[in-house]
Amino acid sequence: MTSIEKFIDLNQSLFIKTATDIWEYAEVGYQEFKSAACMAELLKSYGFRVQQGVGDAHTAFIAEYGTGAPIIGLMAEYDALPNLSQKLGVKQEALKPGANGHGCGHNLLGTAALAAAIAVKEAIESGEVQGTIRLYGTPAEELLTGKVYMAKQGVFDDLDIALGWHPEGVNAVFEMSTSAMRSAKFHFKGVTAHAASDPFNGRSALDAVELMNISANYLREHVLPGVKIHYATIVSDLVPNIVPDKASVWYFVRGNDTNVVNDVYERLVHCANGAAEMTGTDYTIEFLGGCSDYMPSRTLNKVLWEEMSKIPVPKYTEEEHEFAREVGLYSAESGERFRDSLEAAYGVEAREGHICEFLAPLSDIKAKTTIAGSLDIGDVSKIVPTAQFTAVCQGYSCGSHGWQCTSFSASNIGMQGMLYAAKAMGNMSVRLMNDSDLVSAAKEEFKNKLKGVRYKSPLPDHWKPGM
Ligand SMILES: [Zn+2]
Repeated sequence: MTSIEKFIDLNQSLFIKTATDIWEYAEVGYQEFKSAACMAELLKSYGFRVQQGVGDAHTAFIAEYGTGAPIIGLMAEYDALPNLSQKLGVKQEALKPGANGHGCGHNLLGTAALAAAIAVKEAIESGEVQGTIRLYGTPAEELLTGKVYMAKQGVFDDLDIALGWHPEGVNAVFEMSTSAMRSAKFHFKGVTAHAASDPFNGRSALDAVELMNISANYLREHVLPGVKIHYATIVSDLVPNIVPDKASVWYFVRGNDTNVVNDVYERLVHCANGAAEMTGTDYTIEFLGGCSDYMPSRTLNKVLWEEMSKIPVPKYTEEEHEFAREVGLYSAESGERFRDSLEAAYGVEAREGHICEFLAPLSDIKAKTTIAGSLDIGDVSKIVPTAQFTAVCQGYSCGSHGWQCTSFSASNIGMQGMLYAAKAMGNMSVRLMNDSDLVSAAKEEFKNKLKGVRYKSPLPDHWKPGM
């Protein structure tokens, strides 16, 4: 057992308490004041230099210990989701109806990164390793802008390596890419008029929205495979006998590559221009955010898997399997699909029990996959070599963003996954500090992949958190 693992085991009650406190705070993106403060205070008490707030992101923080190279950055998230309040139990029952809940397990995510950072600090202090451990408190992951905004402030620029993880239903290195994304609302403004007696003087904002949507639907045929365009029209209180002077439409553009997504987004703006021109209306763009695709480091992934394989994977009691079975009754079909996907991608047997008790091998199939969803760590991965993994914090039949996940995120199953993740992150950081060749090899791969293209933020200069 490494010194990291020993430290985390010895202090597990502190970390379980921290994860439970953040679960109870359940604060949504850019409102995570208590969650960020509780982590920052704990880090200060362990001797970390802590900067609270990054630019206009007041719930971001950066905590650092040690000096010199390498600088290893661990990503901590702690935002909750709206309306996912849930008691720790097997049936849907809100702790507080209508309140937020940790339906993506970020209370566990943030705490494991925090625990790993403190454990690595102990190793630096004892002289076991040399370098700098830095914990990034990254708000609003669910809004997909926290790390993107921090990236624009340049806070990742001097890092050597970045590491992250996410609670999931399988212990595995995260080998997939994720989709790049842009999100913007187009607000059209026209002129109202009596629709029957005076339509000549009216200029319909709703016509503009409809024409923009038609042109966007024609655009679909002429974009690269993998690009997705989704929209929702936003209208309120319109009646047919008044020419509508206000109407908006909200667009998402996703795709495998951030430059491609940017290009399609620009073409979408042309659609808005055309629609405004045709209808004699004006429009403004409310740019809500965007993130880059995630570029995994294959070099780091291999070593991360090695490190994970040395740590005993948590095993669960019969009661815990029963808990996972009962919670999973509500989403049994997606659980079956998840088990099938594990067997297909990793060639593993995922039929035993209701919670995964193994570490999945590396998978060529996963390494070639881009998942449809997006992660804001994508932007970090375009600035510095990045690796991440998933650790079991829930049963096979539990997806994210549901009450089931909020329940698991307060359970002993979640806490065991959090501790396992902390050990994996901690051991990997120590390995990187002891192996400068590994850091160099990861940087070489990174450089070759980017081919000299410098990171460009998807956020416009005027963009501010919580806008
Ligand atoms: Zn999440």
